[in-house]
Amino acid sequence: MTASVHDLITLSPKDSCNTKLAAGPWDFDTVPGYGPGSSQADRLPDPVSRPGQLPERYQLMPEPELQERILAAKATLGEELVILGHFYQRDEVIAHADFVGDSFQLANAALSKPEAKTIVFCGVHFMAETADILSAPEQAVILPNLAAGCSMADMADESSVETAWEEICETYGVDPENTLPDAEGKLSILPVTYMNSSAALKAFCGRHGGIVCTSSNASTVLEWAFERAHRVLFFPDQHLGRNTAKAMGVPLEQMPLWNPRKALGGNTAEQLREAKVLLWHGFCSVHRRFTVDQISQARAADPGVKIIVHPECPMPVVDAADAAGSTDAIQKFIAACAPGDRIGVGTEINMVNRLAAQFPDRTIFCLDPVICPCSTMYRIHPGYLAWVLEELVAGEVHNQVSVEPEVSVHAKVALDRMLAAKPKA
Ligand code: SF4
Repeated sequence: MTASVHDLITLSPKDSCNTKLAAGPWDFDTVPGYGPGSSQADRLPDPVSRPGQLPERYQLMPEPELQERILAAKATLGEELVILGHFYQRDEVIAHADFVGDSFQLANAALSKPEAKTIVFCGVHFMAETADILSAPEQAVILPNLAAGCSMADMADESSVETAWEEICETYGVDPENTLPDAEGKLSILPVTYMNSSAALKAFCGRHGGIVCTSSNASTVLEWAFERAHRVLFFPDQHLGRNTAKAMGVPLEQMPLWNPRKALGGNTAEQLREAKVLLWHGFCSVHRRFTVDQISQARAADPGVKIIVHPECPMPVVDAADAAGSTDAIQKFIAACAPGDRIGVGTEINMVNRLAAQFPDRTIFCLDPVICPCSTMYRIHPGYLAWVLEELVAGEVHNQVSVEPEVSVHAKVALDRMLAAKPKA
């Protein structure tokens, strides 16, 4: 069964890792359904290609043959194809990527290749949706395995957010469909969604005066929001919202958590009226694994060690680290370190290992001893990549991600607001 939003919110960190994902992700993809992290407004591909339908010959194919077939198909498709690989993707897939980056860098990379008829996105579902929204209408975006979702994106579904919005607007005495500025020229509230959310929620933000943010521009986006509204509803990641707002000086008592299972999100009307940032009860299963203990142990073993973590980590972890930042910021932090430096990193293991290989003169290690990969990203096994590429050579498009035009147009409004938001001088 696909986990519900409520199941996901109560997942414990130990539930989120399974090393079998590396070898045969199709064993986990047998439940019919459109992949996790998909937009509720998303159109099913036609013909429908469901998770778990990877032809058996690709499941059984030895790794060297898969690699040869990917290379051959890629060479045949030439400039018609661009392959994008997220920082957290496994190395056997990243080896074939034309661009490697975070979700936003990759969406921009797709824009830089207008001649490509097909964009194969080796990331997760919300990233493929964003690429589809930003790419030209004639370009097809393919997610090699439709079960590659994002557990965090799944924690905020459209109907729960709509319900929350109605309750919140009722508390503030404003019309949920048409929130108007007050005498100060500000809205009571506007929604901010992290890039890691479905297209439907980006469209929700577009329709309600809201905006999208990434982990690299979250403070700029919150500044933009506070110029236009007294408060924000931030989803799905509570940690990015809390860490960013705290760094901007918002007191913790003005950042109540919104639990979609409880009336008023588990808050009193008074707490909601005092709030500056309402934090949705979502989190990243990978980044939630990092703890203050891990940082203390690293420092006890090596007092000179430098620690950098991703802002999706819980606030005490970010506070205990030397620095926190997006994947891009982590890369820059390590590049700025000196040869011989030791650096403990709080982010996904594939990225940490790649950085360790890129900077062999520094000691770079993951703070989490269990070494948990992003289990949904791992579902893009080379077997899926070989299959979708060989099908493209044969003229067949499988696993296309298409966002409905009426969703796409509003989602693009929220994305364009983000692109236009500039940090204060
Ligand atoms: S690392 Fe976390 S937020 Fe990123 S795709 Fe994986 S589950 Fe989602």
